[in-house]
Amino acid sequence: MANRNPIALALLSVLALSLPVWASPTVPVLIVGASDLPELTVLGARLSAVAQGSAHAGATLPMSTPLTVRATGHGLEVRRGDQPAQIVHRLTIAPQSNALTLQWGTAHKAVAAPVTISLRKGRLWVVADIAEDTYLGGVLAGEITPSAPWEALKAQAIVARSFLYQSRERHGVHQALVCDQSHCQRMVAASAVALALRKAVSDTAGLVVTGAHDTPVPVYYHASCGGTTTAVRQVFGGPDWAHLRGVADPVCATEPGWTVSQPLGACLAALTKSKLFVPAGATDFTVTDRSGTGWPITVSVAAPLPKQLDAYTVWLAFGAAWGWGKVPGLHYDLHREGDVVLITGRGLGHGIGLCQRGMMGRAAMGHKAATILAHYFPGTRVHAR
Ligand SMILES: [Zn+2]
Ligand SMILES: [Zn+2]
Repeated sequence: MANRNPIALALLSVLALSLPVWASPTVPVLIVGASDLPELTVLGARLSAVAQGSAHAGATLPMSTPLTVRATGHGLEVRRGDQPAQIVHRLTIAPQSNALTLQWGTAHKAVAAPVTISLRKGRLWVVADIAEDTYLGGVLAGEITPSAPWEALKAQAIVARSFLYQSRERHGVHQALVCDQSHCQRMVAASAVALALRKAVSDTAGLVVTGAHDTPVPVYYHASCGGTTTAVRQVFGGPDWAHLRGVADPVCATEPGWTVSQPLGACLAALTKSKLFVPAGATDFTVTDRSGTGWPITVSVAAPLPKQLDAYTVWLAFGAAWGWGKVPGLHYDLHREGDVVLITGRGLGHGIGLCQRGMMGRAAMGHKAATILAHYFPGTRVHAR
């Protein structure tokens, strides 16, 4: 019998310890936490709950529903029916069958995974441990129709998985890798995930977009580019990734444009609300600098003391003030006409990386998922991570 090599064993244990948190088969997804949420109710047939707190460390709370959890200055206040309230600092709840439901205000969310509720900055912070494939299926359900061409479904699954693996810094310091909103990738409830979407996830298992030496590279995607994608550096700044430069996308070139009209005052108020400096006596806006592919970089505000603003930041300010779909894309132009500012543009979203409209068109023309991804991420290939 061969001796076990102690060095190899030691190395194995070091490797096991150094595995990053996102390598686990589940994904910690922030389910609730983006808004000011003082109280929620947990509904679900058979719950087993474990509370961790100074007074109730490790105590298993009797199964009981509904369970009301409230943020207080002392910790989480947990109430079950007529029972006296308990204060704990963390609560883990597992559905024993199907899903549990979280309810707050008029909103509710079904979650088929264990959920941990804690406090962050006085608000409830709810993280669900969701199996990776379930998470990716939920993302696909939010991003693409199951009747899309098969190679488009596969391309979307690969790009969603790539995005997940690059997202570790987004919420990582607070026990969540990603949130279920479009800030990361929007995820819908598992019950709404069609078979074709689940198959696209399982058929591409482990595949991501990779660059040199088959190392995973950052990816982004958007709904429609309007004819050309844009370079990541011109929008987010940071490294000038070669695979995230703008590429031509003739599939989208015939896409009709859009026009949004807003009073000048509403535009100025939107900028101020987002804490952008707006000069006194502002009278007009113009895009004064564009990328080689026509995407706006700088917006100038006409005023006695004119001001230049970053075009992406202006777009975010409009979205924050009026709702994210109001000015649908970053490829915009704007100018004043009478009392209003006309914002015209084409494409939907930030224009970086994969264009989903182009992806659908290319898949319908018979392109394979890897070919589609290599078009939008030049110099990359699809490889197991
Ligand atoms: Zn997020
Ligand atoms: Zn496109």
